[in-house]
Amino acid sequence: MSAELISGKTIGEEIRQSITQRVDKLKELGVTPGLAVVLVGNDPASHTYVTNKQKTSKKLGMHSELIEFDESISQEELLNTINRLNTDDSIHGILVQLPLPEHIEERAVIAAIDPSKDVDGFHPINAGKLMIGEEGFIPCTPFGIMKMIEKIGFDLKGKHAVVIGRSNIVGKPIGQLLLQQDATVTYCHSKTVDLPTITKQADLLVAAVGRPKMITSEHVKEGAVVIDVGINRDENNKLCGDVDFDDVKEIASAITPVPGGVGPMTITMLMANTLLSAERTLQK
Ligand code: NDP
Repeated sequence: MSAELISGKTIGEEIRQSITQRVDKLKELGVTPGLAVVLVGNDPASHTYVTNKQKTSKKLGMHSELIEFDESISQEELLNTINRLNTDDSIHGILVQLPLPEHIEERAVIAAIDPSKDVDGFHPINAGKLMIGEEGFIPCTPFGIMKMIEKIGFDLKGKHAVVIGRSNIVGKPIGQLLLQQDATVTYCHSKTVDLPTITKQADLLVAAVGRPKMITSEHVKEGAVVIDVGINRDENNKLCGDVDFDDVKEIASAITPVPGGVGPMTITMLMANTLLSAERTLQK
């Protein structure tokens, strides 16, 4: 293997250690960071995500609340719960696990969260702040990716960053963050013509698509840094990314694995955002 492995496990662990120290300091000042996780229905994947978030927040010394609802809950009931959490001083971060059942409008639910407690960074106010470079909450996955890039010491200034995917939670925000660091950013998506020609120009390639191993060495420039956001199953039902890791690692200079790459960073940055929110209440 020629590429450096960018381990989200290791980088995430380092960040979590510093979060624990900051949580302890905050507790001495009388504030325990609190995260409320709202789960609707019994989707197994959502259950696993929520359990991990709860476990991690407790491990870091935070207060954690899980609020579970049956799939049949009405939108109004859910909004009432969010309103209650908005005014609960022991809660600094509110996270509604997505996806929600079809009869509930996701946008209305996200918009109901107090932007100052929106630790997922999905509220339109926080999305707007990110766009104009104001401090709000950065969505956890893009935030984690930026920490990884910082950790390997990759200077983005003047570099060509190509992002594949334009979702509101990953593709769009990561492009904005890279732009803020003076990269020249190109977005690709399902309608992009001749994807490999564009991705081959990338000094930094971010794949956030959701298609197993679609990015091969044919798409990657020699020496590029490759960040794989995808979480997929391959033909053997094994967890894999959007990038064909074994193929691309021979040509990239640094690459994130799946699992153990972007995934652990996402949950870590959720904790970082919750802590940040608690610290801000003290500054008020
Ligand atoms: P979305 O489905 O919302 O977005 C996928 C994007 O990929 C879309 O913009 C789509 O284009 C684009 N796309 C689809 N097919 C192609 C193609 N053939 N060529 C180029 N672009 C294509 O997904 P998310 O952004 O939510 O997630 C992406 C992946 O990342 C998923 O595998 C998801 O599981 C994973 N993920 C991982 C996280 C982590 O913590 N590691 C966190 C969040 C997501 P168009 O807009 O034109 O439809």
